[in-house]
Amino acid sequence: MKKIEMVDLVTQYHKIEHEINASINEVLRSGAYIQGKSVREFEEHLRIYTGATHCITCANGTDALQIAMMALGLNPGDEIIVPSFTYIATAEAAAVLGIKPVFAEVSPATFNIDTHGISSLITEKTKAIIPVHLYGQCADMEPLLNIAKQHGLYVIEDAAQAIGASYIFSNGTVAKAGSMGDIGITSFFPSKNLGCYGDGGALFTNNDDLAKKIKMIANHGQERKYYHDMIGINSRLDTLQAAILKVKLTYLDSYINARKNVAQYYDKAFVEIAENVKTPVRAENSTHVFHQYTIRLNGMERDNLKIFLEKNNIPTMVYYPLPIHLQKAYTYLGYKEGDLPVSEQLCKTVLSLPIHSEMNDEQLSYIAEKIIEYYTLEYER
Ligand SMILES: *Cc1c(COP(=O)(O)O)cnc(C)c1O
Repeated sequence: MKKIEMVDLVTQYHKIEHEINASINEVLRSGAYIQGKSVREFEEHLRIYTGATHCITCANGTDALQIAMMALGLNPGDEIIVPSFTYIATAEAAAVLGIKPVFAEVSPATFNIDTHGISSLITEKTKAIIPVHLYGQCADMEPLLNIAKQHGLYVIEDAAQAIGASYIFSNGTVAKAGSMGDIGITSFFPSKNLGCYGDGGALFTNNDDLAKKIKMIANHGQERKYYHDMIGINSRLDTLQAAILKVKLTYLDSYINARKNVAQYYDKAFVEIAENVKTPVRAENSTHVFHQYTIRLNGMERDNLKIFLEKNNIPTMVYYPLPIHLQKAYTYLGYKEGDLPVSEQLCKTVLSLPIHSEMNDEQLSYIAEKIIEYYTLEYER
């Protein structure tokens, strides 16, 4: 059996090797390594794919978050509401700008921001909310957008894990992840659903003024070379990465489908151990692109199961072992254990299984068999 990995980017590359290499070679021969033709082409293709009015690429997803906050004019001392159960970048981008992250609790079912708790976190200093579409499923955007509108807050969607996911509003309108907030962001980190072969990121907006600011901020605050109207940063997507992404975007939906098939396989396999293994809950109003397939286990079982699977050559990952409000670097915010019990409990009980576009049935049945075996043995003991 082929070695099981959390992601298998090499096999995926080999299947599209000729196309990728041709696209890379075109850039190498063009000499336009920064802001070359492929950057504009990829931005246009991704803009159409997401349905957003504007797509602006940048150097990575973390920068995209920072650029979003800069473009919205957030200042030191402002507050921004973010979930604590997410990747560090979401809060980090605020913290580096002196903006205070205020942590919201998540729903234990969907792992996404619990919209019921948001209003109580809003103060006079609150400027924005960042919903994270964790693991590939959209946060509940409709109530969130309503709360933001009521209180005059900006919404920055962190769609780093959910490119291609769709949210369905109660009136039937369907919108892609990243296209619903004032600004949406995504990441092209290699292991993301749409990954390049290095770092990359993008921002989306339907607002022309914001698009202009974003483009300038990502490029030293200049529109015209050497004339700097804003304080910006250097955060551009390499032409080489754009050339790779341009090719990979045409395969994104097939990669998502392959991930959905893996998820369906796991769902079915774990029905017989449903008491021990809680499979991912599908939100009513979102599709799921399965950046991760994350199960929940009882109490201490998680770490034992992880070790058992490792011994059987099955890698798993804990996304994330510690919520942001309890991270050392964020102690200055004054949070303590018990402040966000759902997020803290999830960190102790979640486990992400291998899921990617290159998994085969032999690997899947082996993984399912071993997880079921673990619980059967436990029971007999
Ligand atoms: C990956 C990720 C980011 C950051 O993206 P980078 O390109 O790695 O900087 C931000 N938010 C979430 C939720 C992510 O998963």
